[in-house]
This record gives sequence, structure tokens and C-alpha cells, in this order.
Amino acid sequence: MHDFTPAWQAVTCHLCGRDAGQAEPVRLHGEPLTRGQFGYEVHPVLCPCGLVYLNPRWTGAGYGEFYTNHYDALYRLETKPDYGTEGVRRHMRQVWERISPVFAARPAPVAVLDAGCGSGYGLQYLQEQLPAIKIFGIEASPDCCRILQDEVKATLLDSDIDGPWLADHQGRFDLIILRHVAEHFLTPVETLQRLRRALAAGGLMYIAVPDMMHPRTVLRDYDKWWEYWFRAVHPYYYCRQTLFATLARAGLAPLVWGEENEEVWCLAGAGPQAAEHCQDRELRASQAELLNRLLP
Ligand SMILES: [Zn+2]
Repeated sequence: MHDFTPAWQAVTCHLCGRDAGQAEPVRLHGEPLTRGQFGYEVHPVLCPCGLVYLNPRWTGAGYGEFYTNHYDALYRLETKPDYGTEGVRRHMRQVWERISPVFAARPAPVAVLDAGCGSGYGLQYLQEQLPAIKIFGIEASPDCCRILQDEVKATLLDSDIDGPWLADHQGRFDLIILRHVAEHFLTPVETLQRLRRALAAGGLMYIAVPDMMHPRTVLRDYDKWWEYWFRAVHPYYYCRQTLFATLARAGLAPLVWGEENEEVWCLAGAGPQAAEHCQDRELRASQAELLNRLLP
């Protein structure tokens, strides 16, 4: 484990406004589960509204330090020669298979932003399918940014989705891709609102996150699925309902969606803000039932 001792902070549920005191810890053998992936301490809780999230969690400064100094060594597969580009391209092929039927009936996208794009090999795949598009990325890893610019020839907008790039790119993008990125957001509603403002009129946002209602429990490298699933860098564990409620708060409405392969995905456009998020006791109960069934 790295030399890393972050400060902690309590947070409030962005869907219902409750705090940690009103949520129940996710339990393992009757005790709060506190050991996350790679041994990092985590505190997953189930909110009465049905949202699973980390509370407390590292401060923003702690996450910043972790992403800058430790994230790549633990998580970044595409910059390692034995993994190469194929895995990243395969992921984007799946994205394209899901969303191309929608674009078949619309004008072809011109400007595409992959936020949290990594090396950008996914953007490269997309440009092979749509040769006319201009490709843009937002990425924090210096190694990935080098590949993105030098090899993929994409335009790097910023290292931070919450950074100053938006001022020059309001209403710019026909397609924004967030593939397994939104579960990392510390202030999901605000960050999604920013991204929505970067959409062109009629533009669409693809969002895919791990599905807390269908967690991956059969793993090649782990006997205990929860030591893979719960991780400090994922402050949120969405299911379809809590993801869509979050999107609604950001003014985004799903057009098409799916729940497959332990993930929930959708293609969303700017839409009316939904009514107040329900205090969803039924969702909480089914999420609790699932956690109790899958955790010893
Ligand atoms: Zn809540």
C-alpha cells in the first residue's frame, strides 16, 4: 500500500438531503464493511432513499492527491504494454453498438467529447466508425494525455471535468461519453449540470456506471466480490433508479437505457427537471435485500 493518509469528510445525500446518521452501514459478518479494494478504508452506507454511497469519504484534496500520484499504478491498464489498446477499444465498440441505432435516425455527430477518456483509444475507435467527427478528451493522467494528444490526435480540453474548459465550449458537443466515470464524481449533480451545458442543441450524453443492483460477484482475481466492488475511488454505487434520479436533478432525461453485464447505461438528453425524488422505501428495501443476500 502507498504512503497515503487522506483526511475524511462527511457528506449529505444529493438525492434526499439525509446525512450519514440516517443511513445504515453496508455490513459484512454483522459489522460495518470498511475494507475496500487494495485495502483502502471505505464506509459504504445505504441511504433510506435507496442510494448506496461512501460516507464519510476522503476530502476533495485527498482524492486529488490520490488521482495524481497513485491511481495510474493501481487502475490504469491501457498504458501497460501487456494490456495494450484492445480492451479500451472493445469497451468503446460496446458503447457504439448501443448508441448507433439512435444516431441512425439523427444527424451524425460532429464534435464528440470523452470525459475521463484515459488514453483516448476509445475515441480513436469511434473516429474510425465516424471519420468526420472531431474528438476531444478530458483526462487527468499525464501519461494518458500524452497518448491522447500524440498518438490519438485528439484535443485535450482539461485535466479536470470541473475545470475552466467549459467557458469556451458551451453548447459544443453532439455526443459526450461518460463511461464508468460518473461513479467517481464527488458532486455528481453539479458536474453533470456542467456537462449538460456543454451539449449542443439535441446533443446526447452516454453514461454507464457499475450497477449496484447487479454487482459483479464472479471475478477472476478476487474470491470476495466486495473487496473488488467497494473502492475508495467510487464514492457512489448507482442502480438504474438512483442514476436516473441523479440525472434528473442535473436536467438530463434518458432516451434509451439498459442493464447488462453488471452495469447500467443510458443515452440521455437535456430534459425537464423531474419532480422531487421520492423517498423510495421500496428501493431501499430491495437494495438492502440484495446486499444481505450477497454479503456474508
Ligand atoms: Zn438519500
